[in-house]
Amino acid sequence: MDNRAPWIITLVLMTTVCSTHALGDTSFKVIASFSVIKDLVKRVAGDSIGVTTIVPTGEDVHRWELQPPNALAVEEADIVFYNGYGLEPWIRHIEAMADDSLTLTALAESADYAPLTILVGQYQDNPDPHMWMDPKGAAAYVDVIEKTLIERYPEQAEAFTTRAAETREALALLDHQLRERLEGIPQTNRMLTTSEASMAYFARAYGFDYAAIWGIGSETIGSAQAMEAMSMLLSQQRPPALFYESTSPYIHMDAHARATELSLAGPLYTDTLSDTDGPAYNYPAMLRHNAELLHEYLGGARAEKQP
Ligand SMILES: [Zn+2]
Repeated sequence: MDNRAPWIITLVLMTTVCSTHALGDTSFKVIASFSVIKDLVKRVAGDSIGVTTIVPTGEDVHRWELQPPNALAVEEADIVFYNGYGLEPWIRHIEAMADDSLTLTALAESADYAPLTILVGQYQDNPDPHMWMDPKGAAAYVDVIEKTLIERYPEQAEAFTTRAAETREALALLDHQLRERLEGIPQTNRMLTTSEASMAYFARAYGFDYAAIWGIGSETIGSAQAMEAMSMLLSQQRPPALFYESTSPYIHMDAHARATELSLAGPLYTDTLSDTDGPAYNYPAMLRHNAELLHEYLGGARAEKQP
């Protein structure tokens, strides 16, 4: 499209002035938009296919701005896996660059898994992109990853099928373990309150009421109106604790915690994994870390100690 052309020209110019050292590693044939999707893709792709990300681990996937090394990596790639449903507003620039040789796959939009709608804010009632926060949603991504890899690299079909089946099994086990860990939280404490509404799928899967200050990280976050709405809610109900995510600013929920004298806990990991030495070093570790934090702060431990 015409309006995309100036952006591409700028990007190409920027790319040419970069030193070779700064350029993306072109040995990666498969690109994932962010760390959580990379983890799932790696599980199916195996070690023979290099997988890299557009958004570095720890950064906010919603607000990323495409960099020249990203563009170079995309030029050399066979497949870009992204989430879709508006998670990556910057994906339009990659769509503009893509030619017939690039497979662009939106996992959430292709997954056989019913989307929820965004809870509050500017994008309320649009499909909620954070589907991977339910292991069953992640398993639906794995189905799409398997199919896409087989279409692109048919000679490795058998290996992809085997690893995808193993991954689905591991995700089912994880789901079972999370359910067991969280069932100790008393019914009256099952209120999950976060800064961004990134845990709606998790809340639905494990039986929590859910509230958040804003709907999605790409909107204007922490507006006076959104803060007021959360204040109103917290004046009507007192969850045992409030939570914030690693990619959300801390200050907004901290303000609510101070005003209400409720505990503040975090970070929950939702929109990125942590570094390899952190608590969310891979997908199962991310969800287990979140479950442990909820268990601790929503009274799971206290309830289980009672005779
Ligand atoms: Zn998010």
